[in-house]
Amino acid sequence: MTAKNIDGKLLAQKIREKVKQEVLELKQKGITPGLAVIIAGDDPASRVYVNNKKKACEDVGIYSEEYSLPDETTQDELVELIQKLNEKPEINGILLQHPTPKHLNERSAFNVIAPHKDVDGFHPINMGNLCLGEDGFVPCTPAGVMEMLKEYNVEVSGKECVILGRSNIVGKPQAFLLLKENGTVTICHSKTQNIVEICKRADILIAAIGKAKFVNGDMIKSGAVVIDVGMNRDEETKKLVGDVDYESVKEVASLITPVPGGVGPMTIAMLLKNTVKAARMAIGY
Ligand code: NAP
Repeated sequence: MTAKNIDGKLLAQKIREKVKQEVLELKQKGITPGLAVIIAGDDPASRVYVNNKKKACEDVGIYSEEYSLPDETTQDELVELIQKLNEKPEINGILLQHPTPKHLNERSAFNVIAPHKDVDGFHPINMGNLCLGEDGFVPCTPAGVMEMLKEYNVEVSGKECVILGRSNIVGKPQAFLLLKENGTVTICHSKTQNIVEICKRADILIAAIGKAKFVNGDMIKSGAVVIDVGMNRDEETKKLVGDVDYESVKEVASLITPVPGGVGPMTIAMLLKNTVKAARMAIGY
């Protein structure tokens, strides 16, 4: 079996077109959705992500503001900025780019973002709503993965879903989203034993560990759906590679996301979608 690609680039474009229409509708009502992006420090990868997010906002007509803070920014300064943005009427969404410099307490900074402006879905209220299966903002990457499964008619209900990675931004929220769709969910992490056997059980395997080509064809059940969230730099080629060894896994899986062109573009599309949702919520529309 050779797997079919899940085209994240195409689906993200489709979502962005829809968002563009919604932004136009809101503008006709006198509302322009606004996103503030905070980047602290000079991590080159974060700089690329922030530039891509700003460009994406421009493309769909979302107003954006960028706050580039120096590496030596204090926790108090960061918190003060977030509080100011919480009060700013033209800003509907606030995004604090992860990771922040080590001396900052990122978690407590996320906690200061007003839940109704938390378009990344990292505030405990939004995390709590997700865990309860209630409406709220859902972290963009796992939300994007769910959109992909839906677009490609992947049935989740009753299926063995295995997630590699238990981070707060991908693994954990992904588990709750799959559970909401009645998947049978297993989360693996660095202390998990028999990871190969667990992976082999999966009808849907989602890899989010940050280890280049960790998942290979021998770990996959025939016909499984494989979603690769990983974004790693190949040491030799310097190319972007996922957590999945695409070449060997595609011979066994039925559907697979490539890297690049899979989950990555979906993350930005979901951020735009969440920003429009926040703008709608602000006017009760
Ligand atoms: P993270 O916070 O570093 O978490 C990594 C997780 O993987 C942890 O739970 C860790 O376990 C687990 N892990 C590490 N090595 C493992 C191993 N050998 N076996 C099993 N589990 C292992 O990473 P993250 O932020 O979730 O990101 C994961 C990957 O996704 C990265 O490559 C990142 O660049 C990528 N990413 C992509 C997007 C996108 O838009 N495409 C968005 C976010 C992240 P412990 O908890 O036990 O340490």
